[in-house]
Amino acid sequence: MATIFSRIVEGEIPSYKVAESKDFYAFLDINPLARGHTLVIPKKEVDYIFDIENELYKELFTFAKTVGKAIERVIPCKRIGIIVFGLDVPHAHIHLIPINKSSDMSFDSPKLSLDKEEFEEIAAKIQKAFQDA
Ligand code: 5GP
Repeated sequence: MATIFSRIVEGEIPSYKVAESKDFYAFLDINPLARGHTLVIPKKEVDYIFDIENELYKELFTFAKTVGKAIERVIPCKRIGIIVFGLDVPHAHIHLIPINKSSDMSFDSPKLSLDKEEFEEIAAKIQKAFQDA
């Protein structure tokens, strides 16, 4: 059975896409800690990120770096925090979170409640910055 993230890649479940390549997909987290909070995933289904074979693993982080650089160009922040949990969704994913202080990375903090238009606007800005990179 496909993971929820594979179903997002296939377009069966909608997402606010910010970037895509042959092997990777990036989209806004639906429960964001900050505007621009993005998830970067390999299209290949692997649960635990450390089970990804080395070449794909390196490429995943290189892709995430390009996405992170695109986010920081359009979302005001000190830098992009990067974190991997993977405790909820069994499909490896990297969180990219615009931050100004370390507590901005706390998953115990309340999540932002954004409407569809806000998500779409943020995704479109990041998508453009990614394409212009
Ligand atoms: P983790 O597995 O890293 O602990 O958490 C999974 C993350 O995926 C959470 O931040 C959650 O908000 C996000 N997430 C779970 N389901 C969906 C979904 O269907 N769409 C999107 N965009 N994000 C999701």
